[in-house]
Amino acid sequence: MADEMFDTPLLLSQMKRNQWLSEGALRRISEKKLLDLIAHARATVPFYRKSLDGMPVRSMEDLQSLPILSKTVVRDSAERFVSSAYDRRSLQATYTSGSTGIQVPLFYSRAESAYGVAFETHHLTECGAGLFDLQVRIAHYESRPNLLQRLGVFRCRYLDVRADETENLLHLASLKPGILISYPSILLPLARINSSEGLGLRLKLALSGGETLTPAVRKEISSSFGCPVFDRYGSMESSWAAWECREGSLHIQEDMVVVEIVGEDGKGLPDGKAGTIVVTPLWRRAMPFIRYSLGDTGSFGPPCACGRGLRTLRVARGRQDDILVLPSGKIRSARSINLMDDIPGMLSYQIIQENPSLFVFRYVPSGGLGAKERKEVESRIRAGCLGEEVRVEFEVVPSIARGRTGKIQTVMSKVRADAGSGE
Ligand SMILES: [Zn+2]
Repeated sequence: MADEMFDTPLLLSQMKRNQWLSEGALRRISEKKLLDLIAHARATVPFYRKSLDGMPVRSMEDLQSLPILSKTVVRDSAERFVSSAYDRRSLQATYTSGSTGIQVPLFYSRAESAYGVAFETHHLTECGAGLFDLQVRIAHYESRPNLLQRLGVFRCRYLDVRADETENLLHLASLKPGILISYPSILLPLARINSSEGLGLRLKLALSGGETLTPAVRKEISSSFGCPVFDRYGSMESSWAAWECREGSLHIQEDMVVVEIVGEDGKGLPDGKAGTIVVTPLWRRAMPFIRYSLGDTGSFGPPCACGRGLRTLRVARGRQDDILVLPSGKIRSARSINLMDDIPGMLSYQIIQENPSLFVFRYVPSGGLGAKERKEVESRIRAGCLGEEVRVEFEVVPSIARGRTGKIQTVMSKVRADAGSGE
């Protein structure tokens, strides 16, 4: 397949144009791409060659007759999802990060990474960002500059998600970015220190994602940095799927991803009715996911006042305790301790903060954790707690219960922070 299909500027111009099309026209675009993806999957992907056998798909409606794909199926047979149209050695591999407690290996071509870049550039520009605004991303990874960034457009600096918040904030104050991008549980402590220490850092806009952005947290971030906060929705498997416009609706990027809201029978639900969110990224060819359940609950919302034809999504993620309270009283994002995915010997895990100085690491073994692995878990939790005096206990469990929304909550704190109240 030609790589230019994934050229960032081309994808970006398509998104800019398609967002204003009517619902019907958007649907025709996504249906055409869907049928093409299914033909590709059937012909070149071992898993689908078998699972789609005898299941004709001629229209978007027919999609509903296909089985829903779960994370565990992909985890257990990841190699069978890789398309033979790609040279396996040319693909890059990554693991989904600890937001669900189930690691799913992901394979993708270099060209496919253009999608995420185009999506973010689209979102930022629709929300008022300038092409030359400096963006700072607080994350657990650092990407090489993409083509646009090498040209000076949307230059990006990275700060470490595990670093001390005050340190990160001082760094931010010296960089003076226009745009700040991170998880709400990272943005909130920064906003608080910014206000309490009188640093007065102002931003043009903040982008939040990856966790529930509650109204109270949004308000606090927005008032501290004097800027609007925009939300988005997605996962590592689907990449970004929906973005918030200035009118406050989460728009599904329908020309790039099919989002379904399904009931227990796997069939689509009417608008407004809540069900499981299932995605089919239309651009993912090296490792296609058809009807992949993200484990979230949501519903389709009403059309948006902004006039875009893209459908709107409401995500009903429960209140997650993404904030830890350290023995010193300092608040800390759960993101600073949840990265255990690369530690071998377990299928899934959950970290519970019982009290400020006690963490219980519960895990479902696959081989089990030896002394070395346990030590590694302990040292990561301690480092995430900025070296404060905390103890880690281990507990082997046969399974980890899913929360109300169907997801495993990787980190749970039983310690109440006086944060994010008023919801
Ligand atoms: Zn809108």
